[in-house]
Amino acid sequence: MDVTTEILTAIKAYDTIIIHRHQRPDPDALGSQVGLAEILRASFPEKQIFQVGGPVEGLDFLATMDEVADEIYQGSLVIVTDTANAPRISDQRFERGAKLIKIDHHPNDDPYGDLVWVNTQASSCSEIIFDFYHEHQDELVLNDQAARLLYAGIVGDTGRFLYPATTAHTLTVAAELMTYKFNPTDLNRELEQIPMRVAKLAGYVYENIQVDANGAAKVLLPQSLLTGLGIVDSETAAIVSLPGTIDEVVAWGIFVEQPEGYYRVRLRSKGPVINELAKKHHGGGHPLASGANAKDIAEVASIYNELQQLCENFRK
Ligand code: AMP
Repeated sequence: MDVTTEILTAIKAYDTIIIHRHQRPDPDALGSQVGLAEILRASFPEKQIFQVGGPVEGLDFLATMDEVADEIYQGSLVIVTDTANAPRISDQRFERGAKLIKIDHHPNDDPYGDLVWVNTQASSCSEIIFDFYHEHQDELVLNDQAARLLYAGIVGDTGRFLYPATTAHTLTVAAELMTYKFNPTDLNRELEQIPMRVAKLAGYVYENIQVDANGAAKVLLPQSLLTGLGIVDSETAAIVSLPGTIDEVVAWGIFVEQPEGYYRVRLRSKGPVINELAKKHHGGGHPLASGANAKDIAEVASIYNELQQLCENFRK
């Protein structure tokens, strides 16, 4: 039995299904999580389907979460989407169900779960959820709300179909989703628009970026700057891709100082593989888009040094 059929068989066997995703959700985390929840609600109206996790941080135009009591987990099926490592799953009660399924598109470094479906070739986890629906469309229903969520996830994780993980299949899936009843123009605008304070942060990024001769770039966002502009951590998502628009930049790190004093590190690349570097610093992710943590400014400096080395080797 192929893994998608095993997953569908498990879904059919449980009356209660609870769907989780990663902390600090992005559009693909919510798109895949709630897109799947909507598909299951439409397909199996007799089942109880829940979507859980911490705050959705500015993405409530996409989805909101359900409150689930501890007892509900007993005998339930838990599915986690878009989350490579168990510690990053939002709401650690994911372990309390009777069966656990992982569906993801990140490298499978932590294969938690009784059933694991990982496709690193997919542009996004939302694309995988669409593939699941498509494979079993005789038994599953995709409604307009699910289509909107999956489309948002694909747009989010491909940078509007720009990043290399975008394939002909991705565009076919997006085209199919656009045949449903939702307004992609409005949705894209909601995903793209930024408040003035984030525009000012973008100005800071362009003004203060440091780039070496091999294209290794660094931007440090101090807490004082963020509090001065009134920016919360999740809003830094809007500026992470900006250095990539600069010709001279090959790979870059955005180092976001946290109120607790450590730095959230957001790494991106146009070529050199950066996820091994991220893994060395309490992180991980995709070959060209990863995240890590630096405990202090010395670790920030060593991460940037390693990034410089990767860019130098890449050029040779
Ligand atoms: P971000 O910069 O937070 O948008 O993260 C980029 C990519 O790296 C995403 O695919 C994340 O799933 C992954 N990532 C970010 N932070 C971590 C972490 N601490 N551990 C593992 N993967 C991470």
